Amino acid sequence: MSQDSTYDRERKEMVEDQIRRRGIKDRKVLKAMLRVPRHLFVPEQMKELAYGDEPLPIGEGQTISQPYIVAYMTEALRLGGRERVLEIGTGSGYQTAVLAEIVREVYTVELIPELSNRARTVLEKLGYRNVHFRIGDGTMGWPEHAPYDAILVSAAPAAVPPALVEQLKVGGQMIIPVGIDFQELVLVTRKETGWDEQRLIGVRFVPLITIH
Ligand code: SAH
Repeated sequence: MSQDSTYDRERKEMVEDQIRRRGIKDRKVLKAMLRVPRHLFVPEQMKELAYGDEPLPIGEGQTISQPYIVAYMTEALRLGGRERVLEIGTGSGYQTAVLAEIVREVYTVELIPELSNRARTVLEKLGYRNVHFRIGDGTMGWPEHAPYDAILVSAAPAAVPPALVEQLKVGGQMIIPVGIDFQELVLVTRKETGWDEQRLIGVRFVPLITIH
């Protein structure tokens, strides 16, 4: 069997066993996860492990999120397809690609230039035209393109950063891991004034680095 078809089979098993079986139902999310070749987003020597049920190191002390968590966070945003989405923590670009499969435009911010540039190369090679990259501190969001329909953050701050909530449309939602030792995924809904928070599941993310 060719290597590509081995990866295709592993990807189908990943979606079936790790994602659908654990309760993810959104067809757009399942379809996106079946399409994005996760093995191209991990370091060469990790390719064999790309479809495993775990996060993996991607260099610079950072990790590519576990497939189930990528699916869970994407589903939580209940995307219809026409959205403009802000992502904080591009990392490998894998979550970026999953979003880009589903929505109209993805704006993605990464602090570490090497990771941003690597992700850009992979996503361009795969033909994604609806992804916009920025190198910088994502705690401040990307105000030039705000407001966004949805925001996905894949590194954990101690508390919800108000600057990010301000860049959401009223009624828009943000999924974000919050906490230091103990972290939870929080679904934030922007109100006319302020926001609502709904706590979802316990998680482990790398910290959102604050530079100020
Ligand atoms: N979704 C990514 C997860 C990467 S891990 C993936 O699956 O590959 C989180 C990423 O957040 C890391 O790449 C880290 O460098 C980045 N990060 C941490 N603090 C940040 C900040 N203040 N602004 C932007 N990116 C940040």
